[in-house]
Amino acid sequence: MSKEDCIFCKIINKEIPSKIIYEDDRVLAIEDINPVAPVHILLLPKEHIASLDDASENSIELLGYIQLMAARLARDMKIADHGYRLVNNCGEWGGQTVFHIHYHLLGGKEMGWPPF
Ligand code: 5GP
Ligand code: ZN
Repeated sequence: MSKEDCIFCKIINKEIPSKIIYEDDRVLAIEDINPVAPVHILLLPKEHIASLDDASENSIELLGYIQLMAARLARDMKIADHGYRLVNNCGEWGGQTVFHIHYHLLGGKEMGWPPF
């Protein structure tokens, strides 16, 4: 899927509405349209990178920033004390359905393991 057809790029550009939790010049955090936990936030870099498998060393700072931003949002959403899960699904077998790299911040309930 090209950047032009990317649903998350359209959300970032506000061509498709979303419930925005947090935004800055590098990242957008939105509510997942189909939540699987009481708190289910998607963290999207504004730069289009298709998947973790497509990320390069140029993105080290950005990906580290998103992870720390997830931790900050988890505290803001009051899920940090009990604990939460940060997930990246990569590729078909990893369960990725939208090919713009993103992280799921899941919390508000106890998680199971393994996740399949
Ligand atoms: P993936 O399966 O690629 O790891 O995650 C994609 C996520 O994006 C899914 O949890 C799905 O519910 C969510 N999603 C798909 N389309 C939209 C949309 O238009 N708006 C929002 N907010 N979430 C979406
Ligand atoms: Zn995109």
